[in-house]
Amino acid sequence: MTDTIRRGEAGYDEERTGFQAAVEHRPDLIYTAENAADIGAAVEFAAAHRLPVAVQATGHGRSVPASGGVLISTRRMTGVRVHKDARTASFGAGARWDQVIDECAPHGLAPLSGSAPHVGAVGYTLGGGLGLLSRQHGYAADTVRSIEVVTPDGVLRTVTADTEPDLFWTLRGGRDNFGVVTGLEVELFPVARLYGGGLSYSGDRAQFIVDTYLSWTEALPEPMASSLALARFPDLPVIPEPIRGRYVAQVRIAYAGEPGEGAELLAPLRAAAPRLLETVRDMPYAQSGSIHNDPVEPVATCNTNVLLRTLDSAALLEHAGPDAPVPIIAEIRHLGGALARPPAVPSAVGHRDASYLLSLVTPLDGSTGFETVDAAHHRVHDGQRRGVTGRALNFLSGPAATVDRVREAYEPEDHRRLQRLKAQYDPDNLFRLNHNIPPAASV
Ligand SMILES: Cc1cc2nc3c(=O)[nH]c(=O)nc-3n(C[C@H](O)[C@H](O)[C@H](O)COP(=O)(O)OP(=O)(O)OC[C@H]3O[C@@H](n4cnc5c(N)ncnc54)[C@H](O)[C@@H]3O)c2cc1C
Repeated sequence: MTDTIRRGEAGYDEERTGFQAAVEHRPDLIYTAENAADIGAAVEFAAAHRLPVAVQATGHGRSVPASGGVLISTRRMTGVRVHKDARTASFGAGARWDQVIDECAPHGLAPLSGSAPHVGAVGYTLGGGLGLLSRQHGYAADTVRSIEVVTPDGVLRTVTADTEPDLFWTLRGGRDNFGVVTGLEVELFPVARLYGGGLSYSGDRAQFIVDTYLSWTEALPEPMASSLALARFPDLPVIPEPIRGRYVAQVRIAYAGEPGEGAELLAPLRAAAPRLLETVRDMPYAQSGSIHNDPVEPVATCNTNVLLRTLDSAALLEHAGPDAPVPIIAEIRHLGGALARPPAVPSAVGHRDASYLLSLVTPLDGSTGFETVDAAHHRVHDGQRRGVTGRALNFLSGPAATVDRVREAYEPEDHRRLQRLKAQYDPDNLFRLNHNIPPAASV
């Protein structure tokens, strides 16, 4: 039976918290869902009382805070089933990638998971899903076979490319604007091991390392995924001594092929400059989270991004380098390959012509206000304006996830189609505590 928690009742604070601590949900009522019927009951209740709905699995991608309304917490719905012969996995709304990866690993299979295995698999996939195997196999959203979703009218539907093509297109990229997904079935890929890790260089030579990295990415085979992060690492004992407290340029790679081939591909980067630290090794896919080593504890951050055709390294260093007015963790992710090809079944994921994703993260630790940080990020984006194609939904979170920026995650015609479908499925915009796509004024 569905459990509900009202404001002030035991368990309220524990249930409403999540990874992105810059956004605080304070709903009137929390539904702690255990199955699709619980989600149906929660959506029906919200619709009957015209209450706005927020959905949360892990809280990694929170944007608009729930101040009242209903929060549907899916984190108990963690079931995962691997269909080995069909090479697919089905999982519940609350499953994290590490749970899916662990079920797939004994079969020598892997999903299109990303840098952080503690991220929710459903939210990630519906938001596009840029993974370590994506240059070879595309966006995770494009590998979805079937979706179970409760639409804003409270109806539980099984949505595939054949049964409800509009909704199938919309949910894969439009994420949480069209209902609460109770479960997904996605394709898996025969990848058991990766040659991966990080190469850390002194930030004193950041411009040279960025330029070397950009030239290196021009001729890579699709199984080589990589990114370059520019950041000052905290002066904390958990950080390896060679990079502790230092401004570092760190290349992260994940090669889904033979380690010997991976080493050959890496040779130009290894020869470019001395490394402060290198962690590249042959590893099981289940250890892929160690490549980026993303933080696991909740943290308040401003997360923005732009998708780029070309990247201006001098402008990047000028506005996001060690002398930036606020500390910025800038990461360049190499795209292209399968990400640039049209998917077999079209989805709402946009801007496939981009060559790089430039994502920016700044901790909001109270010393600098959000407006100051957001303005500093804007200057970085503006410095790249000649190469910008749009934004990536998944890399926009916290207070920076405005309606205007969400619009820029889609091709203009696709956004208009999303607005028309929003008007059809959620005319009152009850699902607005999210990366919102407002309904078209009339359809
Ligand atoms: C450290 C870190 C690393 C990341 N790495 C990557 C990466 O490599 N690649 C990438 O593509 N993204 C990455 N992301 C972004 C991440 O994929 C998104 O933030 C994603 O939305 C997180 O989903 P969640 O369920 O964990 O978070 P939540 O905050 O719980 O949910 C995020 C959004 O998805 C919606 N949502 C969640 N579940 C459902 C559901 N069942 N039905 C409908 N809507 C739902 C929610 O409404 C919410 O708006 C990363 C984020 C972080 C913080």
